[in-house]
Amino acid sequence: MAQLDTREKLAILADAAKYDASCASSGTSKRDSRDGKGLGSTEGMGICHAYAPDGRCISLLKILLTNSCIFDCHYCINRKSSNVRRARFTAQEVVQLTLAFYKRNYIEGLFLSSGIIKSSNYTMEQLVEVARSLREDHDFRGYIHLKTIPDADPELVRLAGLHADRISINVELPTVSGLEKLAPEKSAPQIESAMLGMKGAIEDGKDARKKYKSAPNFAPAGQSTQMIVGADAATDGDIVTKASTLYDRFSLRRVYYSAFSPIPDASAVLPLQRPPLMREHRLYQSDWLMRFYGFRPAEVVQAAGDDGMLPLDIDPKLAWALKFRENFPVDVNRAPREQLLRIPGLGTKAVDRLIRSRRFRRFTLDDVARLTVSIAKIRPFIVTTDWSPTLLTDRADLRSLVAPKVKQLELFAA
Ligand code: SF4
Repeated sequence: MAQLDTREKLAILADAAKYDASCASSGTSKRDSRDGKGLGSTEGMGICHAYAPDGRCISLLKILLTNSCIFDCHYCINRKSSNVRRARFTAQEVVQLTLAFYKRNYIEGLFLSSGIIKSSNYTMEQLVEVARSLREDHDFRGYIHLKTIPDADPELVRLAGLHADRISINVELPTVSGLEKLAPEKSAPQIESAMLGMKGAIEDGKDARKKYKSAPNFAPAGQSTQMIVGADAATDGDIVTKASTLYDRFSLRRVYYSAFSPIPDASAVLPLQRPPLMREHRLYQSDWLMRFYGFRPAEVVQAAGDDGMLPLDIDPKLAWALKFRENFPVDVNRAPREQLLRIPGLGTKAVDRLIRSRRFRRFTLDDVARLTVSIAKIRPFIVTTDWSPTLLTDRADLRSLVAPKVKQLELFAA
């Protein structure tokens, strides 16, 4: 491997980390002030944002320890057979970089992942060493998110949880057959066993903290995982079902969905095209339906079409409402919270405001309009003091009435 300076390594290893979906800040246009004009840049290498459990947005240095890997997962740009420029930080280099960024107030924490070098255990030891050194040698109080290597020794994974705020263990693909085909060196039982071990360790840590104040705060931000969407034949129904199982079995904080992106020199077993980004968005919406809106996984799956895919042109809540019209209209002045949450276009905050306010007054259509961005979308599904959608939910063309209007794309848009 050619000798690279820290800046070159950072450029390679921050770029390689962008495939990890743990933050939502990406996709803006490229701007910088290297021409001597203006101020600022959108190319701050390796800085991304994540959300703390209390909702704060925090900036993280997001890098890989190395993008070399002895595995050959077909969907991964860092796989053994990929023809990319390789780089590797030592554990101490990551520590120094993190501290330097932290002291300059660029970041509030570190997100660290890695390709597998030498062996899973060796790699995991390096990741743990970064977190240990930051916490113990430098008393680092910032946020640390470590991606673990599932087939590493469980004791190493446990050590990671002692130093990190959040641990993630990627399930990678929604189905076992997909994993066998696209990541032949990985094993679904091994991944699940690592997740189960981490769940147990987090629960034990919480129990210990209840009894002894001095007990270590074990992975206080819990564990999360990531699923790649569109690299195998799994349908949205499969993905939703898998996600709900993961939430239930492993008490995950988040399941991240990452639309597979075509990579240079892609393997022939991969699809030629990336899935529409909207598919990733619809899956996040369905995830919210299960976590915050009281939808059961089977109900979200019912919102999908016969091919098991969620519609791309309308959100899954609206798709469900259009299919199960017998549940509407809902009287916003009387219905319980769980029914209000089913109304397309009404979010959890709007529902809570509505419930608080209706103790003192009765809601008209105009009042509801103030709680939503599109009253046209909601109107067929609600009853207010001055509005009842007579037969509207029976109309055959209801979908076209409530679906967002399709915009003509500009032929010469940038
Ligand atoms: S183990 Fe991780 S880094 Fe290595 S090829 Fe697979 S996904 Fe990529």
